Parts: sequence; structure tokens; C-alpha cells
Amino acid sequence: MSECVFCKIVAGQIPSAKVYEDEFTLAFMDIGEVSPGHVLVAVKPHVDSIYGLDDALAAAVFRTAARVARAVRNAYSPDGVTLYQANGVAAGQTVFHFHLHLVPRYARDGMRLTWPAKNPSREQLEANAAKLRAALE
Ligand code: AMP
Ligand code: ZN
Repeated sequence: MSECVFCKIVAGQIPSAKVYEDEFTLAFMDIGEVSPGHVLVAVKPHVDSIYGLDDALAAAVFRTAARVARAVRNAYSPDGVTLYQANGVAAGQTVFHFHLHLVPRYARDGMRLTWPAKNPSREQLEANAAKLRAALE
């Protein structure tokens, strides 16, 4: 993908502050960090979103995320860390090359994700689960 900014970072065509890489993933600092230590874990091949990850890439992303999360904890001692990952415009995705955010968190850091819980009935939850079981590939 010649116009993809993260493909260019993976290829070394534009600069990034690299933290870690392996065969499948590259972790680098988010240029628009929410707080120091805000890292993106991107897959190396161009994959738009979570739907395109094969098992090897999916496993590698979380392996790298866990490894970098421990580094974030060791380096910054945050109060917490949030993993944020968006797929599609409606979900807030702005770079359409799969990546996961690791955001060090602090009390009153201003980061918010509103979560309008609906508390559906047990029957509705069972119907939702059945619908998804039927859709599993
Ligand atoms: P998302 O909304 O999950 O797609 O987030 C994309 C993220 O990529 C944003 O937080 C941007 O700050 C970050 N970003 C965009 N361009 C670059 C870049 N060249 N280097 C590092 N981070 C970037
Ligand atoms: Zn790309």
C-alpha cells in the first residue's frame, strides 16, 4: 500500500520512534500521544483492520502488546494502561492499517470512552450469543 503511512513506517520510508519489532509487528511511539509512553503496535504487512488478521498476526499483536505493556509499566509506573483498538470510521479508526494503542493512564488524565450500558435481559443476551455462534467461521 504505497500511500499508507504505517506501511511507510514499517518500510523505513518515514521516521518513527521505534520501541520493539519482531517478524510480524512493529511498536513505535504515537506521534499524537495522550501521555508519555503511548505506543502503537502495528502489524508489519498491510492489513486494514482486525478482520484481516490471520491467527499468526493476531497472536503476534498481543504478544508484542503484553511485552510493551510491561516495558511501559517499568519505565513510567502509570496508574494503569488502556488498550484501545479501532476498526472502521464509526469506531474512531483514522489510520487504516491495523494497530493497537497502549496508553499509560493516570487519574484525571482526561481520556474518556463513554460506555452507554443497556443491561439487556438474559434472554436477549442468549439470543445475541446464539447469533454470534452461528456466525463463527
Ligand atoms: P486510530 O484513530 O486508532 O486509527 O489512531 C491512529 C493513530 O496514529 C493516532 O493516534 C495518530 O496520532 C497516530 N499516527 C498517525 N500518523 C503517525 C505517525 N507518522 N507516527 C506515529 N503515529 C502516527
Ligand atoms: Zn499499511
